[in-house]
Amino acid sequence: MNKKSIKDVEVGGKRCLVRVDFNVPMKDGVITDENRIDGALPTIKYLMEKGAKVILCSHMGKPHNIFTEGFGLTKKEKKAVEALPEEERAAAKAEYLKKALKDKEKFTLRPVAERLSEKLGKKVVFAEDIVGESATAAVANMKDGDVVLLENTRFDAGEEGRSEELCKKLAAFCDVYVNDAFGTAHRSHATTAAIVEYGFVKTAVCGFLIEKELSVMADALENPVRPFVAILGGAKISDKLKVIDNLLNKCDTLIIGGGMAYTFIKAKGYNVGNSLVDDEQIGYCKEMMAKADALGKKLYLPIDAVITKEFPNPIDAKVDTEVCDIDKIPDDKEALDIGPKSAALFADAVKNAKTVIWNGPMGVSENPCFAKGTIAVAKALAETSATTIIGGGDSAAAVKNLGFADKMTHISTGGGASLELFEGKKLPGIECLNDK
Ligand code: AMP
Repeated sequence: MNKKSIKDVEVGGKRCLVRVDFNVPMKDGVITDENRIDGALPTIKYLMEKGAKVILCSHMGKPHNIFTEGFGLTKKEKKAVEALPEEERAAAKAEYLKKALKDKEKFTLRPVAERLSEKLGKKVVFAEDIVGESATAAVANMKDGDVVLLENTRFDAGEEGRSEELCKKLAAFCDVYVNDAFGTAHRSHATTAAIVEYGFVKTAVCGFLIEKELSVMADALENPVRPFVAILGGAKISDKLKVIDNLLNKCDTLIIGGGMAYTFIKAKGYNVGNSLVDDEQIGYCKEMMAKADALGKKLYLPIDAVITKEFPNPIDAKVDTEVCDIDKIPDDKEALDIGPKSAALFADAVKNAKTVIWNGPMGVSENPCFAKGTIAVAKALAETSATTIIGGGDSAAAVKNLGFADKMTHISTGGGASLELFEGKKLPGIECLNDK
């Protein structure tokens, strides 16, 4: 990698502001998946051992901007308030603000500080704000090797709004900026990129998590050991247009499943019934099929499907299903998973691969009735000797839930960020860092 990491700069005795990804799932104040905390530990421990002062910051969820003057009603709420007659506005606003205050409990990073203290065997001081009195005092009192966690950066509208003021105040806390939040490396927010882009901190390097994510994924994309197979699934084709295009250039075989496959199937001239289709992208699909042909790449699409009459409601409700060949989907049915013949075809394509990347489920895998295709692909990846890279999101969850996690070479911590890498895009959170 051409960007400097924490190993390339002096950190001992320095105040290091580390942007981590502590956007962990929570239920009733309890963290339900600690992967993201664990992902940041190598960097935090290294900095502590080197005697750095470690100031951690992260966002969590999509809260109201409660640290912002005016309290930051959401756009929708602001519109609703403005639409009311003058005399009703104040009361409506107060009602929204009451709700917003609840976000402080719902999206606070305090439980993360507590759990992190246990994992590090050392108290992590939690600041009740980001750059206010609490944070300023916590940072001022730090000794070498201490750790402070600032409150959720998205409580301040300046995080997503790239506020210069917020960046300047954060920069005043630190000598070195470290980005180790791969999950938000594709975002250009105050703490993920702007603080460096504005020139407020000069020494800006990556942590071990970003270094690892990049070395595995960028390497696979740029110098894959062949055959290189890419598997794409998920709902909407429009989200993955550039990914398909870029991967066709790089891989030997592209496998497309999930909802996005049916626009291709329709483009091939078959009836897809009520399956998910984006009619605007039919031309694009034809273009991609022609491109695969011209480049001599294999493009695999489902050859059969698991169909049902209505989309399950709730999504995991048991429904009647049938299997049919891909050219026989009836008008009143919808394809929600690849069928067994497709699963065997895809598994076979993976068998002799040397590098495989995968993003997106093969069907509505939240429902056991439509999860078999995704399970079959996960199993095929677990059994191959290829380098296997799972690009986060639903496919990562499927692999973990099935107990195949330790059979994969790499499971990315960033679904959105890894998709942008697959698209061939540069990530702002990485671009802004110091070159080697
Ligand atoms: P994405 O966020 O694009 O990776 O898409 C993930 C979502 O795609 C999951 O919630 C799946 O339920 C959905 N999905 C996968 N296959 C299908 C399908 N055949 N029809 C409708 N939705 C699907």
